[in-house]
Amino acid sequence: MSETNWLKDCEGFLIDLDGTMYRGNQAIPCAREFVEWLNRTGRKYLFVTNNSSKLPRQVADKLSGMGIPAEEEHVFTSSQATAMYIKDHAKLANPTVYAIGEEGVVAALEEAGCRFDEESPDYVVVGIDRQFSYEKLKTASFAVQKGAIFLGTNADKRVPTEEGLAPGAGSLSRAVATASGVEPVWIGKPEARMVKYSIKRLGLIPEKTVIVGDNLETDILAGINAGIRSVLVLTGYSGMQDAQQTLHKPDLIVKDLAELISKCEN
Ligand SMILES: [Mg+2]
Repeated sequence: MSETNWLKDCEGFLIDLDGTMYRGNQAIPCAREFVEWLNRTGRKYLFVTNNSSKLPRQVADKLSGMGIPAEEEHVFTSSQATAMYIKDHAKLANPTVYAIGEEGVVAALEEAGCRFDEESPDYVVVGIDRQFSYEKLKTASFAVQKGAIFLGTNADKRVPTEEGLAPGAGSLSRAVATASGVEPVWIGKPEARMVKYSIKRLGLIPEKTVIVGDNLETDILAGINAGIRSVLVLTGYSGMQDAQQTLHKPDLIVKDLAELISKCEN
């Protein structure tokens, strides 16, 4: 029996985007073939992204624009996961929220039936916000001090941009945590809840689901935290040396998605 026999039984794939499907605005070789293979073989899949700023449709459009087939329903963002968390936990049907974030966060919260309130919201949600300000930090901090539950869409401290490593959502959440004295509940990868919500959306079971990504500290750790199998692709952030040194060992390491397809078939 091959060491990767479990792969053949996998029914669902949770797929990272940056470093796995594309780099910047460039599709990674075989990304398209991988999605076509998933479709052809009837596998379920979700593109699971920590990026809270975009609407699922915008993420799908970006993929399609690079020649990678994608529909809105194949995208799951940390904003959507945050909205699911609120739906799961809120005592009332229409909880109130103060959100720091861009249109992805606002749309996901609206869709979940949240109402927006700056004064005394039930929840404070912090995602990446390129219009972040002292005023917003103060509003969020006061609301959390008054008892609002504090959610961070994701803990990424930095995000790669053309200018260099820019502050990520995690840095903004950290500012609110420092100002309010309260730590957030984190939602995105590497938290298990991001994986659990993804599996729930696919209607699968953890045993038949695998997470595929390029980052040991987010994708692979998310898989480990949620108790599902993981595959590291060496087309992005983490290299073979990182994989050998880390405590967060993936179940499989492949050099690219073409190798993953062949491991699934043979
Ligand atoms: Mg990545």
